Amino acid sequence: MEPYRGFDLLALDGKLTDDERQVRDTVREFVEREAMPVILPHFREGTFPTELMGPLAGLGLFGAHIHGYGCAGLGARAYGLAMQELERGDSALRSFMSVQSSLAMTAIWLHGSEEQKQRWLPEMAAGHSLGAFALTEADHGSDPGGMETRAVAVRGGFRITGAKHWITNAAFAKVIVVWAKLGEGVRGFLVERDRPGVTVEEIKHKLSLRMSSVAGVGLDGVDVPEANLLPATKGLVSALECLNHARFGIAWGVLGAAAACLHETLDYAKRRKQFSRPIAGYQLVQAKLADMAAELSLGQLLAHHLADEKDAGRLHFSQISIAKYRNAQTALDIARACRDLLGAAGILDEFATMRHAMNLEAVNTYEGTRHMHQLILGRHLTGLSAFDG
Ligand SMILES: Cc1cc2nc3c(=O)[nH]c(=O)nc-3n(C[C@H](O)[C@H](O)[C@H](O)COP(=O)(O)OP(=O)(O)OC[C@H]3O[C@@H](n4cnc5c(N)ncnc54)[C@H](O)[C@@H]3O)c2cc1C
Repeated sequence: MEPYRGFDLLALDGKLTDDERQVRDTVREFVEREAMPVILPHFREGTFPTELMGPLAGLGLFGAHIHGYGCAGLGARAYGLAMQELERGDSALRSFMSVQSSLAMTAIWLHGSEEQKQRWLPEMAAGHSLGAFALTEADHGSDPGGMETRAVAVRGGFRITGAKHWITNAAFAKVIVVWAKLGEGVRGFLVERDRPGVTVEEIKHKLSLRMSSVAGVGLDGVDVPEANLLPATKGLVSALECLNHARFGIAWGVLGAAAACLHETLDYAKRRKQFSRPIAGYQLVQAKLADMAAELSLGQLLAHHLADEKDAGRLHFSQISIAKYRNAQTALDIARACRDLLGAAGILDEFATMRHAMNLEAVNTYEGTRHMHQLILGRHLTGLSAFDG
């Protein structure tokens, strides 16, 4: 197969600064050289490639959008490009990065005290500590406001009781950002993984994001000092602010998975002969390839526009909703169409396409399903909330 060079039909690369191009190329090289050789065995085993944690930290991308505290302070486009390249390898690599950077570190950066930022962010940026973000519960996914995890004030701090589910990186985390109800309001707490009462149980047998480490987190009367409350958290909206950072990364990342599928399928279609000719020469096949390339390009345009808006400080959550659900759906559609063009060969895991398609099923669900983003947009358009009716 020809080396991967990405797709740039709308000449968007022309918008990149030298620094942005360098970030993209560095991550592309990392994925090609270090990640690709280990992805398939780990995908088969259903294990996260822990051997990549050090090199991933070495890329300097943990908390890369944060300024200060040992973080790179990258612009939105550079961060997005990095997510795109990581997800070209596997969505689990981007998920790992998203949780560390956009969820755990962002929660501390946006809502933490200066002491908490100094304590955690430099260590997390260097990869010496990993974080997780625990919002979802088994009975409260799309509706996290219904959470049952509670914090009560006790002498010197808080006691947290409940159970979180589907928590990425919890098994590796030194600190978990736990969202719990304190009185009637939702607040964020820093819960060190080694506190008595914290249990982490890996969720096994996933058919999607097989390389991701995802777990249930038990919180059995876990005592944390007052200093572990994230002081600036002001209800569920504070958690959603972090999710918006992650959703921005997803809107970019999924394009990498889609590009990987298209790259592999183009190569195959040019080599695969049926009825004595390469299938790439048939009009029906070209129509599919053209549609996929066009949709991918429109997704890229959207992602680039989002980055401009983010850097200008104008990005609205309704725009992020459009990009998250549309780009995730576009990528999933492309992966499924590519799988079809690969024929029977496409069900083999030696081809990356079906792995990406399976991953994208989960990416479509987490960080707000298509329905949730439609409801967010619907409320934005009409002023009427249809979440519970
Ligand atoms: C691999 C993976 C990793 C994850 N990592 C994390 C993590 O690190 N931290 C974390 O907190 N969470 C995490 N999650 C959880 C994720 O955010 C939730 O799965 C997601 O919010 C959806 O919740 P649910 O699975 O309970 O689905 P549900 O909310 O039960 O939804 C099921 C279906 O019902 C639809 N639906 C629900 N309500 C409505 C409505 N009002 N109107 C119309 N349709 C509706 C949904 O769109 C969906 O199609 C992860 C999930 C996965 C799969």
